Amino acid sequence: MTEHPDPRSLPDSVRRIVDEIETEIGDEDPQLGQPSHPVEGSSGRIEAAVREILLEIGEDPTREGLVATPDRMHRMYRELTAGYLVDPERLINGAVFEVGYSEMVVVKDIPFYSLCEHHLLPFFGSAHVAYVPEGRVIGLSKIPRIVEMYARRLQVQERMTQQIADFLMERLEPKGVGVVLEATHLCAAMRGVRKPGTVMTTAAVQGLFRRNDKTRAEFFSHIGRPAPGA
Ligand SMILES: [Zn+2]
Repeated sequence: MTEHPDPRSLPDSVRRIVDEIETEIGDEDPQLGQPSHPVEGSSGRIEAAVREILLEIGEDPTREGLVATPDRMHRMYRELTAGYLVDPERLINGAVFEVGYSEMVVVKDIPFYSLCEHHLLPFFGSAHVAYVPEGRVIGLSKIPRIVEMYARRLQVQERMTQQIADFLMERLEPKGVGVVLEATHLCAAMRGVRKPGTVMTTAAVQGLFRRNDKTRAEFFSHIGRPAPGA
């Protein structure tokens, strides 16, 4: 057996990652066991609403498997909608650099998980983000965080695609931006409305990516997808 360090001795940033791996979504600190106590600072409204839903569908919110569900769902929704609380200034803090580089920058296959605002069910898949700089670039590790900031909200895929593109246009003032999102929506897949595994693709192109066919074609060839209308 390896010795585990005292969790309290870990730096906060590491502690948070360890916590996330050790706990189920919506669970409290594993040291506290089952999340049977209310969420800190909660008005109790989410918990009461979840109990109402359970009753309405004919369930018994007091049975063992469900008794902690309202608290757990409250914590889960806080995690899944934490994107509303992200400060974009802090997110990009210090990571925009002046450089002469003017070739296309592409970050592809960024996994994301979001909630559709029509059903509060997950939609998830990959984001592909590209831009052609005009004197300014952003640290590569920031692009998945921008995707996550918008994913962790109630969303529709089209708007999320546009928001990522708008964010980069505003912050970097590049020659152009291209964003493609490919996602499976559980609200469709679970009902068999579409064939299971059907992927919905959305694209937002701005600046050079909109005006210039060659730039757009280069982007789609980088991500290995046919350009729309090609
Ligand atoms: Zn939906």
